[in-house]
Order: sequence, then structure tokens, then C-alpha cells
Amino acid sequence: MFSKILIANRGEIAVRIIKTCRRMGIATVVVYSDADADSMAVEMADEGVFIGAAPAAQSYLVADKIIAACRETGAEAIHPGFGFLSENAGFAKRCAEEGIVFIGPNPHAIEAMGDKIESKKFAARANVSVVPGHVGEIDDTAHAIRISEEIGYPVMIKASAGGGGKGIRVAWTRQDVEEGFPAVKAEAKASFGDDRIFIEKFIESPRHVEIQVLGDKHGHVVHLFERECSIQRRNQKVIEEAPSPLLDETTRAAMGAQAVALAQAVGYDSAGTVEFVAGQDKSFFFLEMNTRLQVEHPVTELITGIDLVEQMIRSAHGEPLPFAQGDLKIKGWAIESRIYAEDPYRGFLPSIGRLVRYNPPAEGETAKATVRNDAGVREGDEISMFYDPMISKLSTWAPEREAAIDAMGRALEDFHIEGLGQNIPFLAAVMDQERFRSGKLSTNYIKDEFPDGFWGTAPTPFQRDLMAAVACAMHRTLTRRAAPELLRDDWVVIEAGERRLVRVTNGEALTVEFLEDGRTLRLEGVDWRPGKPTFRGVLDGRAFTAQVEPAPEGFRIRHRAASAQVLVLTPRIAELHEKLPPKQAADTSKMVLSPMPGLVVTLDVAVGQLVRAGEAVAVIEAMKMQNIIRAERDGTVKAVNAAAGDSVAADEVLVEFA
Ligand code: ADP
Ligand code: ADP
Ligand code: MG
Repeated sequence: MFSKILIANRGEIAVRIIKTCRRMGIATVVVYSDADADSMAVEMADEGVFIGAAPAAQSYLVADKIIAACRETGAEAIHPGFGFLSENAGFAKRCAEEGIVFIGPNPHAIEAMGDKIESKKFAARANVSVVPGHVGEIDDTAHAIRISEEIGYPVMIKASAGGGGKGIRVAWTRQDVEEGFPAVKAEAKASFGDDRIFIEKFIESPRHVEIQVLGDKHGHVVHLFERECSIQRRNQKVIEEAPSPLLDETTRAAMGAQAVALAQAVGYDSAGTVEFVAGQDKSFFFLEMNTRLQVEHPVTELITGIDLVEQMIRSAHGEPLPFAQGDLKIKGWAIESRIYAEDPYRGFLPSIGRLVRYNPPAEGETAKATVRNDAGVREGDEISMFYDPMISKLSTWAPEREAAIDAMGRALEDFHIEGLGQNIPFLAAVMDQERFRSGKLSTNYIKDEFPDGFWGTAPTPFQRDLMAAVACAMHRTLTRRAAPELLRDDWVVIEAGERRLVRVTNGEALTVEFLEDGRTLRLEGVDWRPGKPTFRGVLDGRAFTAQVEPAPEGFRIRHRAASAQVLVLTPRIAELHEKLPPKQAADTSKMVLSPMPGLVVTLDVAVGQLVRAGEAVAVIEAMKMQNIIRAERDGTVKAVNAAAGDSVAADEVLVEFA
């Protein structure tokens, strides 16, 4: 076996690879940029080699620096992780020339599959069913329109080199193509340095189902079943699971066979993923092959018990696969939630910053479920603008799907992050949705279920009780410490304008009696002290974790996706409180605000111009994505406050209407 491996990556995937290497007794070297000098991966690896400035083009993407780091440390092999150089055939070739083992497929397989146009041609020749479309390069907007009209709307405009949901646009009309084609081209150029574009039919309301394959250098290829990744926003996965609730044994076998046939045709000799879009009727079409370890590989590991990183290392070393297809079985169900530094309340736009608090749930196996959190960050670390805004990948496993979902809901409750926007409340909301629980998924799921965006969920009756009980418990503790003479039993709890009279008593458990209807809540096992942002307890026998913080008049309490401001007042103050006028929010209806921090690429309107609702007003680039900002209503432009080249903050006013 190798004695030392260099990891040409960062963040959670570098940490993930180090863990397997340690278990296998292999020493690790990690390369790092300026931004990652103090990272968890650098701390965990046996050695670290500095390779340059934060932008990936000056560090993680520079083959020379990575090869030099191998020479310097004597590493015999390179694991590229995902992203960066992982699907770069030139880099894999270069490694071979330098006598360094590339832990991934051979360069020929990367070349044939790494490019969406080439891989579709190849797949079609291998009798794999592919999405109908134009399998070739598109020259310009006029050509794009001609092709789109031949295929028939809706179509999808895609960068051949695309990945991570970047360089993709759906076009429903000719105008969408006129706008989308240049945008995808620019995005592809910025993100991949390759602006070849193709167009295919957009399959409406499909599901994303992919097959994990694994090959060795002795001609064996097996598949490790499927993952379903239909819960996506911006064509990028947020929740994945294995197996897929869509597939039956016959479809699973057929999809697995096509994936293995494709892998075999291309001489595949490592871990890889064959992605399909599937209809609700279980028809399926090849999308692309990812010739690398996949972000969501943990769910496959959880249902098969196979360590994919270990298998990649072993096959790169020349070992034959230790199992045949017939030895593999699906055990239980696994779900993965990608915890992103993004703001679900603002259309999931990136929200970078420092992890002022970072408290993940406990990992491990209990009688009922397994919790796994793949992370590469610690409290105090920064999620920077230079790399992927993923914070961690939270996975749960249980014998049945429902139990895995319940375990995920609980684990998300226990996950506490402060300092930046993050999508935990959103993920928790999905876990509680009946449609998700029944497995009726589609890539439109988020659009269907959250048509007006995500604003949290209304508290359920249980959550309202929970919030009242938590507020009373906090209020009691704080009063006892600060002004014990004010301690009393009778209070008024106000939430969302509704007042409830309660009697709070503290014995073995804290009891909260609602005086209007005589109902009594019992709160036990409280784990909270002033200043702590999480409140754990058991309410009427149900364990929960709530996120709590003091608010101007009371407490802001969040449980899963529901949050509310709860006031605990004496009856007299509650009466006075009712007489206060409610606060008015500022009127922004006559403005176009930047929904995120970013760079103004173009500002397309001028003072005096009449703009129609839906018309493009500006293009803002953030995290290498071009976002078209549209007017929400008709209006005449009164002022333009930004210009191309400006940096703007979130909520900055771009344009004002008269
Ligand atoms: P990436 O390389 O960014 O992963 P993919 O080609 O795999 O790009 O597409 C990403 C996602 O976009 C898919 O998971 C799927 O949800 C959606 N998608 C891609 N192509 C189509 C299509 N032709 N019809 C419908 N949805 C598609
Ligand atoms: P998958 O199809 O596996 O979900 P994606 O295409 O969504 O994969 O993700 C692969 C993407 O991961 C890359 O395109 C890149 O944006 C991102 N990435 C690259 N390096 C890292 C990293 N170290 N940590 C997290 N994400 C990364
Ligand atoms: Mg994909």
C-alpha cells in the first residue's frame, strides 16, 4: 500500500480523505492556500504544504505547485477530492508522467466522460438512453435560438464543462435564450475557463437519480446502487438519499446495468457516478458522468458499509475489487443534508462570513439511528468567498426511510450555527413536509413547495406550547437571578399577538398551566443557562432542542423552521403593551434592491425609462454566478444608484422608481 498520500483539496473533503488514510495507516500531506493556513484539514494532516494565494487559480488549480509539493514530501499518490483538479484529464496525465499515482480514473476515462458534450456522444454509442438535444457546440445566440426552436421549448442551455449547478439555464421562450445564452457563456468562462455551450430538451418535473459505480484496473466494474438527489435549488443538490424512493428492483437493475455498461465501455477504474434524469414513470435518461468521488457519497457508504475513499485508494494501487455485484446489498436508508452558508430567506443566495458559533449534533450510532457529520470547519473559522459555501454534510441512517428522516430532523434541531446565514431551518422544514416524507420528489420540489420563497413555517400547536414553555422557563431563571423579589406565578405569554394567561410552577418539572383552558405542560430535563443559545428539554415526554436568544421585549425562539418572538409579562404590563402601536416596516416597493452582496456586471436601465415588471434591471455577479435582477412592478426610473463595476452590499438600493 502507499505510505504517503497528498490531498489536493481543502475543507470537508480533505478531512474526509485524511480520516480514511489514518485508518489505513497511510501518512497524509495536505496542500493549502493563504485562506486555509489554519484550517482543520491542515491541523489534521501529518504535513502541510503552502501553495499560494486564496483564489483557486493561484493555488488549488496550479498543477505545478501540487506536483512540487509531492516531490518535496515524498508523497506517492494524489487524491484530488472533488472540484478543483479532480476531473482534469491533463492533470491526471501529468501525474502519470511524473510517476505519481492519481487516485481517480485513468485520463482517457476522464477525457471521454468529463465533458458533457463528449460524454453524451460516447453514451449514445454505448446504447445508454440520453436526453434528446443537440449534441454539439453552439456558436452564438442566433445559432442557440435556431437549435432551441428545433428541439422545442423548454430547453436547457448548458456549459459543456459545467459542474456544481453552474453554467445552466432553462429557457422557455426565445427571449430566455437571448438572455440566457450569453449569461451561461460568461459564467462558463469565469467558472471553468471553457465556454463551449450545448442545448438539450428540458425534461419537466423530473427526478435526479444517479448510480455509484466502482471499477478496478482488472476490468471489473460494479455499481453500489442509486442515490436520489431531486431536492435541488439552482440545479444544485441540497438533500440526497439512498436508496431512491422512486425505484423498484427492475428499474434499479436496468439503471445499474446501463451505468456499468457505460463505465465498462470507457475502461473506468475508480469511483464514479452516472447521473440520470428520471420521469415519474421511471423512464430515465443519461445526464452526465462525474469521474470523481461525489459530494453525496456518504449516503452510499451508510447503506452499503463500504468506504468509497478506501476503495479508490485500493484500486489506484492496483488491487482488484474485493467484491462482486452479487455480494452487494442495500441495508436501511440514509439521508444527507448539505448545510450551506446561504440565506434561505433570500432565495438561497450565498451568505459568507465567520462561524461565530458552530455546534454540530453528536455523531455516532444509537440503537435507532446513525448520525454522521462531514465537516472541515471549527467554531471561529470563516466560510470565505473564495470557495464553495458548504459548511458541512449532515447524514443520518436508520433501518427505514421514515426513521432516517426523523433522525435528520432531530439532528438538524441540534445543529447550532451563528455568524452567517445558513439553511438549517429550511432543511428542517423539508423533513417535516408530508410530500417529502411520502417520497413524491421532483427537481421542482422547492419551487412547488415554496413558490414565494422560504419564510419559515407557522408554529404547530406543539411548537406553540414549546415556545411558551421555553419562554416561561427562561424568564423564570432570569428573574430569579436578577430580581428574585419579582418572581411570581401568574404571567401573560404573548406570541404572534395572542395572549395566554399562565401559571408557572417549579417542582420536579416546570409546569405551565394555561388558565383559560386548564391545560398543563410539563417541561423536564432542561439544559440551558443564561447566555446559552440552545435550550434542550423534554416537553410532555418529547425531547427537543430550541434555538433561543434575547429579543427587545422577550425572547426569540426557533424550533426547526418555526420561530417566534415570545413575551412573558406581568398581567399589568401586558395590558399596557396592548396599547402600543405596532411597528411599521419601511416601504421598499418602489425600489430594486440587490438581493446579495456582489459585483454589478451591467446596469441596464436609465433615469426616465419605463420598466415593466419582470424586465431585467441589472446583472449582479456573486460566487461566480450571474444573477439577473428583475423589476417586481412597472415603474418609471427616478434614480440609478449603481453602475457596472460597483461592489454592492445586500439590500443596497440599485434603482428607485418614481
Ligand atoms: P452539473 O454538472 O452542474 O451537476 P447536470 O447536467 O448534472 O450539471 O445538471 C444539474 C441538474 O440540473 C440535474 O441534477 C437536474 O436536476 C437538472 N437538469 C440537468 N439537465 C436537465 C434536463 N435536460 N432536464 C431537466 N433537468 C435537468
Ligand atoms: P455532485 O454532483 O457531487 O453533487 P457538484 O457538482 O454539486 O457535485 O459538486 C462538485 C462541486 O464541489 C465542484 O464543482 C465545486 O463547486 C465544489 N467543490 C470543490 N471543492 C470543494 C471542496 N473542497 N469542498 C466543497 N465543495 C467543493
Ligand atoms: Mg450533475
